Amino acid sequence: MDMHEQIGGLANTSVRQLSPYQPGKPIEELQRELGLHEIVKLASNENPLGPSPLGLEAAQHALREAHRYPDGNGFGLKRRLAAHLDVPAESITLGNGSNDVLELVARAFLAPGLEAVYSQYAFAVYPLAVQAAAAQGWVAAARPDYGHDLEAMLALITPNTRLVFIANPNNPTGTFVSGPELRAFLSVVPEQVIVVVDEAYFEYAQSDAYPDCLRWLESFPRLIVTRTFSKAYGLAGLRVGYAVSHPAIADLLNRVRQPFNVGVPALAAAQAALDDREFLDRSRALNRAGMVQLTEGIQALGLDTVPSIGNFLLVGLRRPAAAVYEALLRQGVIVRPVANYGLAEHLRVTVGSAGENQRFLAALRTVLTDV
Ligand SMILES: *Cc1c(COP(=O)(O)O)cnc(C)c1O
Repeated sequence: MDMHEQIGGLANTSVRQLSPYQPGKPIEELQRELGLHEIVKLASNENPLGPSPLGLEAAQHALREAHRYPDGNGFGLKRRLAAHLDVPAESITLGNGSNDVLELVARAFLAPGLEAVYSQYAFAVYPLAVQAAAAQGWVAAARPDYGHDLEAMLALITPNTRLVFIANPNNPTGTFVSGPELRAFLSVVPEQVIVVVDEAYFEYAQSDAYPDCLRWLESFPRLIVTRTFSKAYGLAGLRVGYAVSHPAIADLLNRVRQPFNVGVPALAAAQAALDDREFLDRSRALNRAGMVQLTEGIQALGLDTVPSIGNFLLVGLRRPAAAVYEALLRQGVIVRPVANYGLAEHLRVTVGSAGENQRFLAALRTVLTDV
């Protein structure tokens, strides 16, 4: 046995069986590999406008305090968020991205012998967080339109279930659960179950049927809503997200949280970005236009798209996606393969600027004639 296997064998069973999250390919990596310069990255649902200018300025200013530990309670950001969301500050838990919050939830409520339920095609972090907690995850088959099937999810709940994860909208499919559907689900979920509604794309979601779950926290005390500054606010690199829940849940999450899980520039940037209405409006408008541009362009190539209310689009290629992904890389365009979701004939593309979308569509047209 080599050293790698020997040491690997020392880890607990759950960790041994984990496969790490596969992030989008970094621009620098493709530059190193192919010596390309003009690279377009539409692989991680990042904001094509860059960071919120108010957020960036606040982060730069805050760096002067980089020798200090951050406020471990995030008082300023929580107070600002509480006013913005019209919820009590005690109901907010801050995280190093909302990914951190999802892991806190798994650590607080799961253990060996306990279970969680999520949908087929749901965000890859849920199974990872469940498995890292050595709990059992159950996958409910998705609907034919790739969306969550809440009835199928309900049917998988047992007395050992502690968590249900609902991505609204879901990544990578862009599908969402409507307000009435979600409310009906919450009202029949058994009492031992916490429901996590992951709203990472809340600020982009524009549909009358899309619910604002925060308004339901008083009726459903076992609901956790997670959101992030990574997507519409353009602060993915700073890592700040949050959960809103009953204060009793926030209290539990705070017990497993690292004392200083959000850094000084991230706290300052997030707080300032909340005031950046102009940036948010611009981001939404650019996304709306880009979504139309991409959808029409992809359909004009004879390919399928799944209707999305996020800032990304699932493209059905009707042929193996791996070769198309690789060929797009050689054209300097990075998108996201989703074979790890069981979608081997799809790619996920982030809505970029008009120019980036154009580059992607042109590259895709070129590539499709060769594969
Ligand atoms: C991007 C994303 C997140 C988390 O992003 P953070 O950067 O950790 O806040 C959470 N859920 C979904 C569905 C996402 O796509």
